[in-house]
Amino acid sequence: MRFPSRRPVSRRTAITGLAGLGAVAAAPAVLVSCSGESPLSLPAPIVSEVVRRQVRRMADATREDYLQDGDLHVLLAGTGSPEPGSTRAGACVAVLVAGRTFVFDSGPGSPARMLAAGVPLTSVSDVFLTHYHSDHLNGLPELSVQRWVTGRATSPLVVHGPIGSRHAVGEVVAGFNQSMLADREMRTANQPDRLADPEAGLLRARPFGVQGPDAVRVYEGDGVIVDAFLVDHGPVRPAVGYRLSYAGRSVVVSGDTAKSANLARHSRKADLLVHEAMDKQSVRDGVAALRDLGVHERADQFESTLEYHSSFADATEVAAEADVAELVYTHIIPDPPNMVARNLFLQRSRGIFDGDRSIAEDGDWWHLTPQA
Ligand SMILES: [Zn+2]
Ligand SMILES: [Zn+2]
Repeated sequence: MRFPSRRPVSRRTAITGLAGLGAVAAAPAVLVSCSGESPLSLPAPIVSEVVRRQVRRMADATREDYLQDGDLHVLLAGTGSPEPGSTRAGACVAVLVAGRTFVFDSGPGSPARMLAAGVPLTSVSDVFLTHYHSDHLNGLPELSVQRWVTGRATSPLVVHGPIGSRHAVGEVVAGFNQSMLADREMRTANQPDRLADPEAGLLRARPFGVQGPDAVRVYEGDGVIVDAFLVDHGPVRPAVGYRLSYAGRSVVVSGDTAKSANLARHSRKADLLVHEAMDKQSVRDGVAALRDLGVHERADQFESTLEYHSSFADATEVAAEADVAELVYTHIIPDPPNMVARNLFLQRSRGIFDGDRSIAEDGDWWHLTPQA
């Protein structure tokens, strides 16, 4: 299906496809079995019809076509925040275009969401980290292994990230590579023919510097351009947003940020702005409730987050200022538990922005056709 209108389509279809398997009991085996054997090789009597159907459904859902059809496909693979108890995967936006998949942040659980949505993991060539908070990068070891084992990648996964005053992507990547050393060695020993090159299961750091308001180009190839620019995540420096451009279309990922004029500047006329959002009234209510309970340390911690995240109104004003075509709120704090909460959050910024806007769910897709 092609939807030149830029409206979200196929929302949650890939994820709801897993619902029939309950807690997806077979998922670990389907993703990467510990033995390395395909779950399809199990004796037929052991494999229930439910699992058979599920595996077929996952195979049918593979979106190889999205890589080659000339369009730009955006998957929200993780829309969660660090909030405890959230059922959403950690922050992750995947863009399938020009034969590759570009991933913006790799939060915990997001690789499984990508797989469930049919993203061919071999196609994931580059990850772009917005900053070094755990909810944006703890999916990296899972992604590198899944890509190598199920996707049979033949080269390391490149991870781009900003150089900070104290931290950079190199130390993140080195730590994860070390933590997965035993896994790589065991898999190679178990399947020496199929997984002969453990190097392909590695992450490779590609740091970049960014200063001042101007963007830096961090990727260019096959018509795809990725630019990085500073945003304002309070004490977390640097924190960047990214703009991916291709064939007259563009998608902007805010990362975590308070209201940022620089983000508005670099989102100018984008087709889709994926912006974090916090319902600050709900957070203040939660802080007051914690203080009533005498849980002051947690209340202080929660309250401090107000300073370096965007309210729904902030995000909406940025979208209006940038004149983007569509805005989707993600990384929602607090996680809206139902339709009532989602509507309440949306109503608080009503009238600021004329374009389409919605609250993201894991598994949402957007499809953009090239502009002539
Ligand atoms: Zn975050
Ligand atoms: Zn953060």
